[in-house]
Amino acid sequence: MLADSIYMREPELAIKYGELARRIAQRSRVRIPREWRWRYCKKCKILLYPGINAQIRLRGRRLPHIVIKCELCGEIRRMPYLSERERNET
Ligand SMILES: [Zn+2]
Repeated sequence: MLADSIYMREPELAIKYGELARRIAQRSRVRIPREWRWRYCKKCKILLYPGINAQIRLRGRRLPHIVIKCELCGEIRRMPYLSERERNET
């Protein structure tokens, strides 16, 4: 996504950009796309950047899930990991 490339150069701008995108989505009642939704920390409402302000781990074998930890507030989120095929079916 666009914010990712901005982040490399201007982290603060990228966070603002993420925040703005979230607000626009709320105002226009457009749902944040599934692949974006997990990237917002519920607690501090920032956009999470894997390897920069978030840690991401894949856990579980039979029921794989992603564990996302916000490094700012320590909030941990778990979400099921879906394969491309499963994602298209839902
Ligand atoms: Zn957080």
